[in-house]
Amino acid sequence: MQWNKDAEQAVAKVPFFVRKRVRKRVEAEAQQGGAAMVTMAHVTACRQRYLHHQEDEVQGFTLEACFGQSGCPNRIDTGEDLTKRLESLLRSHNLKEFMQSRVSGSLKLHHEFRVTMADCPNSCSRPQIVDIGLISASLPVRGGSPCSECGACLAACREEGITLAGPETGPKFDWQRCLACGQCVKACPTGAIAFGLTGYRILLGGKLGRHPQLGRELSGVFSAETTLAIIATCLSHFKAENRQGERFGEVLNRTGFSFLAPYTLKPL
Ligand code: SF4
Ligand code: SF4
Ligand code: SF4
Repeated sequence: MQWNKDAEQAVAKVPFFVRKRVRKRVEAEAQQGGAAMVTMAHVTACRQRYLHHQEDEVQGFTLEACFGQSGCPNRIDTGEDLTKRLESLLRSHNLKEFMQSRVSGSLKLHHEFRVTMADCPNSCSRPQIVDIGLISASLPVRGGSPCSECGACLAACREEGITLAGPETGPKFDWQRCLACGQCVKACPTGAIAFGLTGYRILLGGKLGRHPQLGRELSGVFSAETTLAIIATCLSHFKAENRQGERFGEVLNRTGFSFLAPYTLKPL
């Protein structure tokens, strides 16, 4: 649906963590009203509702993703669409009711538990600054074919994470540098590098606000099943340890990560 210039400019000023949702809502309301184009009047009506009835708009969590599924060439295909399963997991924890029991006064959108997915380490959807961030990842492995020493993988790797060790041995990976982006695999013309363990990197406890912090990353790349199990454990921990509506990052700063053993944090 088309937006006029004023409406576009107005929605661009909405805080980023609710912008997508507001945009969707404005469009739906304009469509329901039979409009052919979104105008400032639609934005204003929706803004009034958000400002004066914000608690009604709170659903307890947000689940966002980057534009990878719309055809981004950098996307790492994990073979799973985790979104639906994640949404149903988040829903099953009744986070709105839970936050209502912890927060004094009415619930605001910033109280929602935020989960964000990025389909590659470029992280356009900013998974580092939300309660739980997921980054699709694929570790490179030595493929079955000989290496022609063409250097395409060296050029593709922005982390300088590869050295070549001759046609037989082929590429060697520096796991301290590798971000599991898969670019070297896509660049290799001979199949000397292949996709290895593919799944998700997990970041926990990122936030903005008065005391911003980046999420801490667990060591490793996790399957969809393990990722969902880790998130379920995190949600239970969040609910058991939360004091007065703290963000997950604040809970983790107080309790540490031992509840997640045997998983460990990636060194900073
Ligand atoms: S995070 Fe990666 S896959 Fe997603 S939109 Fe950005 S570049 Fe594309
Ligand atoms: S997966 Fe990405 S970061 Fe890792 S070695 Fe290949 S190109 Fe470099
Ligand atoms: S691993 Fe592939 S891309 Fe890298 S030098 Fe060898 S043949 Fe070229």
